[in-house]
Amino acid sequence: TLDADWAERWIRRTADTVAGRRDELTELDRQIGDGDHGENLVRGFRAVVAKLDARDGQDGATEAAGPRLVGDVLKLTATTLMSTVGGASGPLYGTAFLRAAKVTGRESIDTRAVVAMLESALEGITVRGKATPGEKTMVDAWTPAVDAAAQAASEGGDEAAVLRAAAAAAAAGATATIPLVATKGRASYLGERSAGHEDPGARSTALLLGAAVEALA
Ligand code: ADP
Ligand code: MG
Ligand code: MG
Repeated sequence: TLDADWAERWIRRTADTVAGRRDELTELDRQIGDGDHGENLVRGFRAVVAKLDARDGQDGATEAAGPRLVGDVLKLTATTLMSTVGGASGPLYGTAFLRAAKVTGRESIDTRAVVAMLESALEGITVRGKATPGEKTMVDAWTPAVDAAAQAASEGGDEAAVLRAAAAAAAAGATATIPLVATKGRASYLGERSAGHEDPGARSTALLLGAAVEALA
């Protein structure tokens, strides 16, 4: 099973990854959007790390408050992203983490709960952004990720296998956005000219889920 320490490693690793890949995300967004996706995510996840650091500093207080829940880490991530990221991706990832937090209010999560967490995240993004698969958004990375996770779980895979399947499918889904014409978000302003470029939010989704795998170790 995966616990709150894993969730915290996941978020910290994501912060490191988006900082390292900031220019790449910015360049993708420069091609079909307004060139701020890298900046938005670096700012957002840096703020989350600052809050995690502040909270980890007060050990006594957290002991007294009882065991840490996976959902606590995800909820802190959600509210911080919502309040620090102004772009479309802030509310979208914020809602994803908020929904994910709602189904992970436990000390540890098993394979089924990992799948439920990913499904809930995608639901949040869909409720918030109203995009369907094929519109060249982060939904095109999340949808195959959720499907692959459910498939891996049905084949008896453990939590690691489920996350690995999700991350691989998200990466493939992101690449598959290249030929698509955007019909949601800023990239839709370009119409047909949005084809031929990878969607930045789909790429960042692949990085986020890749970080979830790296956090297993
Ligand atoms: P902004 O577009 O406000 O500058 P970002 O650059 O941070 O915000 O995020 C852009 C990404 O947000 C896009 O690449 C796309 O993946 C995602 N996105 C935008 N609108 C939607 C939507 N309605 N549903 C799902 N994802 C969306
Ligand atoms: Mg942008
Ligand atoms: Mg913007």
